[in-house]
Amino acid sequence: QASNLQGYAPICLGLEDFYIRRLYLRIQDCFGRPIASAPDAWFDVVERYSNDNNKTLKRTTKTSRCLNLGSYNYLGFAASDEYCTPRVIESLRRFSPSTCSARVDGGTTTLHTELEECVAKFVQKPAAVVFGMGYVTNSAILPVLIGKGGLIISDSLNHNSIVNGARGSGATVQVFQHNTPSHLEKVLREHIAEGQPRTHRPWKKIIVIVEGIYSMEGELCKLPEIVAICKKYKVYVYLDEAHSIGAVGKSGRGVCELLGVDTADVDIMMGTFTKSFGSCGGYIAGSRKLIQYLKYTCPAHLYATSISPPAAQQIISAVKVILGEDGTSRGAQKLARIRENSNFFRSELQKMGFEVLGDNDSPVMPIMLYNPAKIPAFSRKCLNQNVAVVTVAFPATPLLLARARICISASHTKEDLIQSLEVISRVGDMVGIKYFPAEPKKQ
Ligand code: PMP
Repeated sequence: QASNLQGYAPICLGLEDFYIRRLYLRIQDCFGRPIASAPDAWFDVVERYSNDNNKTLKRTTKTSRCLNLGSYNYLGFAASDEYCTPRVIESLRRFSPSTCSARVDGGTTTLHTELEECVAKFVQKPAAVVFGMGYVTNSAILPVLIGKGGLIISDSLNHNSIVNGARGSGATVQVFQHNTPSHLEKVLREHIAEGQPRTHRPWKKIIVIVEGIYSMEGELCKLPEIVAICKKYKVYVYLDEAHSIGAVGKSGRGVCELLGVDTADVDIMMGTFTKSFGSCGGYIAGSRKLIQYLKYTCPAHLYATSISPPAAQQIISAVKVILGEDGTSRGAQKLARIRENSNFFRSELQKMGFEVLGDNDSPVMPIMLYNPAKIPAFSRKCLNQNVAVVTVAFPATPLLLARARICISASHTKEDLIQSLEVISRVGDMVGIKYFPAEPKKQ
């Protein structure tokens, strides 16, 4: 793949010399080579985030304030919040930023037990265990759940933390076509027969891994169909809700709530606190037996310093707001707002002629650029007009499927959205990425 890229860059040089040179530096970075002098679109330094989802970027030549359309701050909790912030400050005073201890050695505070109860209740599972990092939650848990002699069947676009965890587990890994239940069934049939009892199979254990909302595609998982297949073949379901928990569903409980799936049918529920809750860390929720087993066997639980107390307090407080336990309707308003904002933004982009991936209700919306040479042009021109977007390229996507990935937040106002749509539309014309005819504007 590396040599393909090296062959590819010179072909583009003739087309968009300046931009591809910048991109090429970035790609080199993906392969671990030095990027120290790269004047590209990915390493701006943020001086501060503000409550209205703006961020102040410190660039080499100037400092600018821009609307943040790239953050996973789906509900706007990654900002000063009237309910969360005072409690977080209090927890900082009481416990300090770090427990400086592992969970089993004095690193379990009252906040940690409260958090685990709060998460289990929120995701509607009997028990939960939390970790200091979302990435580690996947990569450290999978090797404990399954090993040699086991089979993992993973969606082809699952996150890198899942890929790493699956590889590290030593289990056989098979991939099924992204979000395609019929292909999942085909892969399952290659290994087991329908209704075959678990004890009569050539595999010690079989786990199917999917995500609630795919972060590079903005798509909702076809969970009802996938769960039905997994039940039919008696295999375990592992669901990563990093982008869906807190962000979708009537009460923010994620894709199960949104798509009408009983959480009892999802054996292992994973999620992160770094998006909707504006904090750090990740969780696994499941049966009491499973969680107890993980707590006593997972090295990342036994040997790592526990999640920071203020981070834990932030999550507990955010969940209370979401559920209305703060005594206000702010949580419900946030949930209604993110849904409204997402559906409005997606339909406006489509009307302008952009190719937008993903489903309604998903706050993640990739705008297709295709040609990677368009990445720096798109992101820089948006940034120069004070709109910050995230662009995604190989190896996070296939080489010729580059995209800008917009993340919508409940903290965006209608005016924010309208202004940024105008910017994106102008830049889209300049860069040539409106692949469909625009819908005529209503008079
Ligand atoms: N799972 C998915 C699906 C993700 O998108 C991410 C990161 N965005 C992670 C896990 C890792 O989470 P974190 O960034 O909280 O470490």
